[in-house]
Amino acid sequence: MHFTKVIQGNYYSAVSSKKVAFHENSLVCLNDEGQIGKIVQQEESSYQFVLDQAKKENVLWTLADNQYLLPGFIDTHVHAPQWPNISQALNSLEEDWFFNYTFPLEAKFSDAAFAHKVYDNLVQTLIDHGTTTVLYFGSLDNAGNVELVKSCQKFHQRGLIGKVVMDNPAECPDYYHDESTESALTDTESFIQTVDKMNAGQFIKMQAVITPRYLTSCTLEGMRGLGKLAKKYDLLIQSHCSENNTEDAYALDNYNKRDSEMLDETGLLTDKSIMAHGTLLNDFDLDLFQERGTSIAHCPVSNGFHGTAVLPVKKALEKDINVGLGTDICGGYEPSIYQTLRQAAMASAMLSDGVDNSIAADKRGVGDARITADTAFYLATAGGAKTLQLNTGVIEEGAFADLQIVHSKYPEFIEQTPYTRFEKLMYETTPNEIDVVLTQGLVAKGELK
Ligand SMILES: [Zn+2]
Repeated sequence: MHFTKVIQGNYYSAVSSKKVAFHENSLVCLNDEGQIGKIVQQEESSYQFVLDQAKKENVLWTLADNQYLLPGFIDTHVHAPQWPNISQALNSLEEDWFFNYTFPLEAKFSDAAFAHKVYDNLVQTLIDHGTTTVLYFGSLDNAGNVELVKSCQKFHQRGLIGKVVMDNPAECPDYYHDESTESALTDTESFIQTVDKMNAGQFIKMQAVITPRYLTSCTLEGMRGLGKLAKKYDLLIQSHCSENNTEDAYALDNYNKRDSEMLDETGLLTDKSIMAHGTLLNDFDLDLFQERGTSIAHCPVSNGFHGTAVLPVKKALEKDINVGLGTDICGGYEPSIYQTLRQAAMASAMLSDGVDNSIAADKRGVGDARITADTAFYLATAGGAKTLQLNTGVIEEGAFADLQIVHSKYPEFIEQTPYTRFEKLMYETTPNEIDVVLTQGLVAKGELK
């Protein structure tokens, strides 16, 4: 069997939401389709043969002792046009944040030249941080959204991209909303067809995603139309659900229903839906998500500033709901999924233990809500892949060769185990320690040695 590259080294891959597996000195063999064609563990009888063959064909790539192979990370919630505003106005009130910072910026993305400049930098930055697949909210205007597709193609990132729909002028600024419900649907359909055309001859395929911004910004007619388009083209759907107090209250005040029920009634809560934030999802909502097979994009950094509560991620996983991680970008300060998984672990500890020191310790937190580094890593990899229904996020035969090679940040002063090394990688890695990133076997960062 011919392999384009054989990587010899140690790797970590999630085997469940609770457990990461470590494999030592394995041979991870990549094929022409950009998949992991074969993995040979060192105790297998064919090990020496595959190793010799790889040497003979000059495709062997042996990692250094302090290097590790990990799956590329998956970001399940990024507002691409908000990139220029990252780290700004994090403590502003929501209305101010949207109307004075976010919407004026997003409106600029009708200018393709501006979009090109911003998106090239964004996609490159995310690759630099080890992120190989991203679920993106674009902007209203397809001129900008097409530039995002081009940037993903140029830098070898798998982009799943949505034209944002905001067809309810009553809740949107004068200068930034779809002209009508009809035009919102036509523009969405035209973007789906454009992405399809742009995929011709491309190795890494991009996907168009149905993207009603959130209940507030959309008409019910528009949402129903989008639900039908999702069905017609068999596409993923992304939106926000019960992101914070304001969003949670909007559905109740205006429709006397839960946010999740409104999404469900309009055909947008399906097993192909990824709902961002969800900090205020209650048991009723979580059960509905579970029934529909709907996933959650957990954005703990952004939620820390705007979420008004902590998503009980452990509870969601126990209910068999798929959960991935999202940086959200401008709702926070970090484009890194590493930083996001750290915050996921910290937020879960705070939810568990509580935060108000005037309350007795035994009543302060909700208890049993902590997640470990294994679970946080799972969310960043296999969990994210499940939400997007992609065969990636794991180092297994048949999965896309979406990989990162990282090295440990500090020397080892005392003896470490594979697990303590793993914890250190999760909590310490920055772009400086990410040596190589591959998407579908193509080098996106670093070089083959
Ligand atoms: Zn968002």
